[in-house]
Amino acid sequence: MPSYDPNNIFAKILRGELPSYKVYEDDKAFAFLDIMPRAPGHTLILPKAPARNILDVNPDDLAHVMKVAQKIAQAAMKAFDAEGVTVQQFNEAAGGQVVFHLHVHVIPRHAGVSLKAPASFKETPDVLAAHAERLKAALA
Ligand code: AMP
Repeated sequence: MPSYDPNNIFAKILRGELPSYKVYEDDKAFAFLDIMPRAPGHTLILPKAPARNILDVNPDDLAHVMKVAQKIAQAAMKAFDAEGVTVQQFNEAAGGQVVFHLHVHVIPRHAGVSLKAPASFKETPDVLAAHAERLKAALA
């Protein structure tokens, strides 16, 4: 497996070099909206420590990311009046991973509404900003 690349796009977001629609942050994890959401409220949860994916992440960091993913899922149910939540996590290109800093997807779902295809739709900044506020309010 290749080593962690500190110039991946999520590492730049974590360092504040690129913008994001932040939803949650603590000392070990960071969560922000996916800018190409597969459904409204699609959120990504990352460990702050460098990790390429599930194959090299520190187990305690992975456990913490999943704790935060649960909080986000609970908030997403409220914020988006969701009926369910899909949680996804991809590892290496063959496993569907595109960005090589570990992240967990939390996607609010409604019955009968299919997920959009990955990277098929770019949401507008106004909508993303409003959705981040809705999630933050539901987390408070
Ligand atoms: P994957 O590595 O397959 O889990 O997918 C990476 C995800 O990151 C995709 O869902 C993209 O839409 C999302 N993504 C890519 N660039 C950004 C960005 N700058 N901000 C937020 N989400 C992003």
